[in-house]
Amino acid sequence: MRYDVLVLGGGIVGTSVAVHLQERGRAVALIDRRGPGEETSHGNAGLVERTSLLPIAFPRSLPALAEIVLKRYPGANYHWSALPRLAPWLLAYWRNSAPDRLDATARLMYPILSTTVAEHRALASKADAESFFRDTGWLKIHRTEEDCRAEEKSLALAAEFGHQVRHLDREETLALEPSLRPDFIAGTHWTDPHSVSSPGGVTKAYASYLAKIGGVVLRGDAGSLRQGGAGWTIGAGASQIEAREVVVCLGPWSMDVLAPLGYRLPLAVKRGYHMHYRAADGATLGRPVIDEAGGYVLTPMVGGIRLTTGVEFARRDAPKTPVQVDRAEKLARDLFPLGTRAEPEPWMGARPMFPDSRPVIDRAPRHGNLWLAFGHQHLGFTLGPATGRLLAEMMTGEPTHVDPSPFSAERFG
Ligand SMILES: Cc1cc2nc3c(=O)[nH]c(=O)nc-3n(C[C@H](O)[C@H](O)[C@H](O)COP(=O)(O)OP(=O)(O)OC[C@H]3O[C@@H](n4cnc5c(N)ncnc54)[C@H](O)[C@@H]3O)c2cc1C
Repeated sequence: MRYDVLVLGGGIVGTSVAVHLQERGRAVALIDRRGPGEETSHGNAGLVERTSLLPIAFPRSLPALAEIVLKRYPGANYHWSALPRLAPWLLAYWRNSAPDRLDATARLMYPILSTTVAEHRALASKADAESFFRDTGWLKIHRTEEDCRAEEKSLALAAEFGHQVRHLDREETLALEPSLRPDFIAGTHWTDPHSVSSPGGVTKAYASYLAKIGGVVLRGDAGSLRQGGAGWTIGAGASQIEAREVVVCLGPWSMDVLAPLGYRLPLAVKRGYHMHYRAADGATLGRPVIDEAGGYVLTPMVGGIRLTTGVEFARRDAPKTPVQVDRAEKLARDLFPLGTRAEPEPWMGARPMFPDSRPVIDRAPRHGNLWLAFGHQHLGFTLGPATGRLLAEMMTGEPTHVDPSPFSAERFG
């Protein structure tokens, strides 16, 4: 079987790339070893951001760093065994977390981030996925005055870019989310972002739309990709399929395919966990609630209230160590009446991340017919459809809706 383009990886990024290419007249096969939306794009917190302009930074102050090194901050964990190999990446991440660099990254990300809600909603309406979406923003709770002050830089950027933010005292926060327990002093309601009740469900709906408009969704192993003749071949079940062009959208697994082709890009992972809870006493949530000091997010999902954790630095494939779920759960129970756990063990995923907190969306530097779209870190669910549109525009020679240069693969040399 022959296609114009093989898109490897059926997460939100690959599925969105495939849809945008098929809509532009390319014959596309989307290939995943599982089904679409069953890995990282399934297990996230479901935020479709616009306002998180400042990247999540490596701590620069000694007290904050000490909290992490001593494993006192519930939002972070690490495996000692992973540190020697990760050290150069962590150093680069630390350098990129200097205040001036964070500010520069925010400005480079702003053009694409400002399109994300509109791009998701446009795709959702065509894919009949509107019912998953909420336009209720998200709520950050603050336990101390220090928590409130920690948000000042984000608020200044939000004001500069015209984002809507409501500052709430405790009573106003409780009026917005009446099931919360008053374990905080204030809240900030970021009203521009949207959120979804099933990120995996949304990704699957986009994949069904791909099939409806003539694309093909196949099971296959990206590890069997071979260059040959006028393009590429890959094994999908018993058949060999061929295409002129390939797009690598394998999220945390992208370098598994690219390293054998000679690429060395500094991709690492920040692992994260989730657990669902039944809500006790008829409690409800209308939007994701972020407790940054506690290092977790609570989001109402189709499977219950989903608690997602912060980051874990570990080898991608090391066994799960979900200590953060236990720690965050204790804090979350003081904030919201969580009932029993809905699953026997936590889900784990890995945020694919470059040390400058920007994805790669580009043609591969040494292969004219190989394209790259991965490394979307904490914002991959958000950025999927906008990335799909941008890469499809680049591949078809259309004018691009945002400048792709911040996402060049060659920025790493
Ligand atoms: C706890 C947590 C919370 C998060 N919260 C948010 C949030 O609220 N909002 C947000 O925007 N982002 C969030 N993220 C980040 C977001 O989930 C990711 O950035 C995004 O899902 C990455 O999408 P992707 O398509 O690049 O990768 P994936 O979804 O991982 O897709 C990659 C695909 O490649 C396939 N694959 C891998 N190897 C092979 C192979 N050899 N052959 C074939 N197929 C293969 C996999 O099966 C998978 O389907 C969160 C992440 C975590 C872990």
